[in-house]
Amino acid sequence: MKERLLEKFAEVYGESQGAEYFFAPGRVNLIGEHTDYNGGHVFPCALTIGTYALARKNSTGMMNFYSENFPQRGVVSVPAENFVYESGDGWTNYPKGVMWVFEQKGYHITSGLDILYFGNIPNGSGLSSSASIEVVTAVILKEIFGFDVDMVQVSLFTQMAENQFNGVNCGIMDQFSIAMGKKDHAIFLDTADLSYTYAPLKLENAKIVIACSNKKRGLADSKYNERRCQCEKALAELKTVVNINNLGDLTEEQFEEVKDTISDPVNRQRAKHAVYENQRTIRAVEALKANDIALFGKLMNESHVSLRDDYEVTGIELDTLVEAAWEQPGVIGSRMTGAGFGGCTVSIVEDSAVEAFTEEVGKKYLEKIGYAADFYVVSIGDGARKLD
Ligand code: ADP
Ligand code: MG
Repeated sequence: MKERLLEKFAEVYGESQGAEYFFAPGRVNLIGEHTDYNGGHVFPCALTIGTYALARKNSTGMMNFYSENFPQRGVVSVPAENFVYESGDGWTNYPKGVMWVFEQKGYHITSGLDILYFGNIPNGSGLSSSASIEVVTAVILKEIFGFDVDMVQVSLFTQMAENQFNGVNCGIMDQFSIAMGKKDHAIFLDTADLSYTYAPLKLENAKIVIACSNKKRGLADSKYNERRCQCEKALAELKTVVNINNLGDLTEEQFEEVKDTISDPVNRQRAKHAVYENQRTIRAVEALKANDIALFGKLMNESHVSLRDDYEVTGIELDTLVEAAWEQPGVIGSRMTGAGFGGCTVSIVEDSAVEAFTEEVGKKYLEKIGYAADFYVVSIGDGARKLD
């Protein structure tokens, strides 16, 4: 990979002398969906697919961006100061946003850079290619300018870039898991206080299979914001009767006792998902630690049902993929992953059943939806870092 990217870098920027090499993964969330902005738990892992970058200082005072994924845009250049969002600058608003945050936080960027990116995560599918390009950019800045920030700060800075510069109101899960990932481990993260532990996930005789629905995102962002809003409203009403900071502070029993305080039945349903999903995530991690992968899979399935019926973020495409997966032999668990309304599902499938899984689920999806899904058998890798 590096050799090829160095050649490309030389083609784009004249020569590749002095270019340093970086990587940030994509991520998949195994369970704990729509809990990260509700002060609940999530259980994501970093993947071995992600965003590669080559970068070096230049002497022109310009920040130059090129992506092999968007070659038609060529090199986009902006002055290496006063980073501003320009819709016409397309994808470069993601790395620019990260630079803006570093400047805001007092880390002064003292030189222009030539940067080349290449990502092998499908864009816009819920594997968080946006967080991946943000985090790899933060690692570039940290390493090339010697900024003294740790990887938790990197995750917070890049989340701020996505929220405030790009206007996407995401929680902390994506950037955190991409910055902090660990090979063969998933991260059990409490989003209320960012405490976390790593849980080993070396699946014996099984694989993690991601099915990408290829559904265009459409209204995803507005519906995401609507769900956030509904949870906030439910929380505000609950706070009049219980002393909590987040929906994630409640057990199922506590929620059942006070739920009628939430006046709007739809908001009540949304809050129910947030509370139950958080508790389900805690139980799923316990199951995994006890080596009870079957229970882990069952909880994944329950997570999907809750996202489908109470949170209503699945849609026909994701439901078709998951319901077809549930019908397959050798499937330990299957659910939608990411924000929903399109994007991907994640399934744990026994080794011997993977081939039939992709074939059968793929066939049923094509028949019902009219276009094909893509399948990825993925491995869990380390978080963002400089490569040799
Ligand atoms: P997701 O994060 O689920 O993949 P998003 O819509 O949030 O979907 O982010 C996708 C966007 O991130 C792309 O349209 C592009 O603007 C940017 N992006 C991600 N990876 C790259 C890359 N390798 N090169 C350039 N831009 C990228
Ligand atoms: Mg994204």
